[in-house]
Amino acid sequence: MIEQMIIRYGEISLKGKNRSEFEQRLLNNLRRAVADMPSVRLHKAGGRILADVGGADLEVVERRLASVFGVVSLSPVEVCPLTLEDMALAAVSILNSEHEGRKATFKIEVKRTNKRFPLNSLEVAAEVGGRVLDALDNLTVDVHHPDSTIFVEVRDDGGYVYGTKLPAVGGLPVGSAGRVGLLLSGGIDSPVAGWLSLKRGVELEAIHFHSFPFTSQRALDKVETLAQILANWAGRVRLHTVYFTDVQTEIRKHCPESLGITIMRRMMVRIAEQIARERKLLSLVTGESLGQVASQTLESIRTINAVTNLPILRPLITEDKVDIMKRARQIGTYETSILPYEDCCTIFVPKSPRTRPRVEEAEEAEANLDVPNLVKEAVRRTTQKTFVAEEFVESVLPMV
Ligand code: ATP
Ligand code: MG
Repeated sequence: MIEQMIIRYGEISLKGKNRSEFEQRLLNNLRRAVADMPSVRLHKAGGRILADVGGADLEVVERRLASVFGVVSLSPVEVCPLTLEDMALAAVSILNSEHEGRKATFKIEVKRTNKRFPLNSLEVAAEVGGRVLDALDNLTVDVHHPDSTIFVEVRDDGGYVYGTKLPAVGGLPVGSAGRVGLLLSGGIDSPVAGWLSLKRGVELEAIHFHSFPFTSQRALDKVETLAQILANWAGRVRLHTVYFTDVQTEIRKHCPESLGITIMRRMMVRIAEQIARERKLLSLVTGESLGQVASQTLESIRTINAVTNLPILRPLITEDKVDIMKRARQIGTYETSILPYEDCCTIFVPKSPRTRPRVEEAEEAEANLDVPNLVKEAVRRTTQKTFVAEEFVESVLPMV
């Protein structure tokens, strides 16, 4: 019975001297993903991680570990004594469960790191393959396009025999890339943008702009649910909820309606930048996608961007809405994102927003706003809440 699993983590191995820190981080994140399954034991083993399932449900462990950022692929593996008979037995058992007596082709691929083993790789492949053919008469060899490839690793501590390499979520372990501030709305896009950043190893703090009483408690609950879902993937997400009502009221009072959205966005970025400074966030992240709405034209993005030197990551900038929606379904945010709610942006939508606002126009329109004070007050009235993973993510893979 298969009780072990090989966990591979491609890109990390490229990271030279940071490698051991990366591996340790991944190991910690993997352990957290199976924290409720005490029989599962994980340890580093020569450029990869091995899991001993210890009687736990193999498929559950597989789905959990495949959802941890940084894992590229995994394989349930039979670890056996270093004899041709044992390695062949393991291969037979895997092929049997894959084909259950139906006609199929296979090949054996051998990697030998144990140089004391008396046979070389080709000889091991021939010997194990021959024994498989003797044992299972539904199978034939095809080295070019086999239905199944069985991998046999001849290592110092035993034979490792496995079939499929299951694709995992990929990316880099959360915590390996620094901290960023995600501008999180209740929409479909920004949670996906946050997830994609997590996938590249960042630690996430979410910043939400709330305009109570124009926006309801329900709208806020929804954002908190999204923060919780992201925390389930990330381990932990801190949410900053900014009191934005006064800013919006002032914009409405003092600025031309057609530039309202542009100026509101500029204020969001200014406030987020201040929070970033206090929380040592290295960058902001938004769910913007080119041309999706009036505020997401290149001119508009430039005018919004002009208020900050902080890098703003836009992981979805070139994505189509249908693809973003598909991703939202895969990561589990879609059902929450589509709940009806009022956004602070939707309640003040001008009848005809400028689609190509220039920087000078925006600056002129802001002349009657006390920008520094509005930013200061909004930051002062910001509240924080930390979400920690409360569900174990078991994604359906592959996620591309
Ligand atoms: P989303 O689905 O993420 O709301 P969207 O397509 O509705 O995106 P906009 O409403 O124009 O686009 O918002 C663009 C981006 O600005 C969002 O992706 C998000 O990063 C940020 N944003 C918008 N509203 C808020 C808000 N109330 N709080 C925090 N960030 C916001
Ligand atoms: Mg929105």
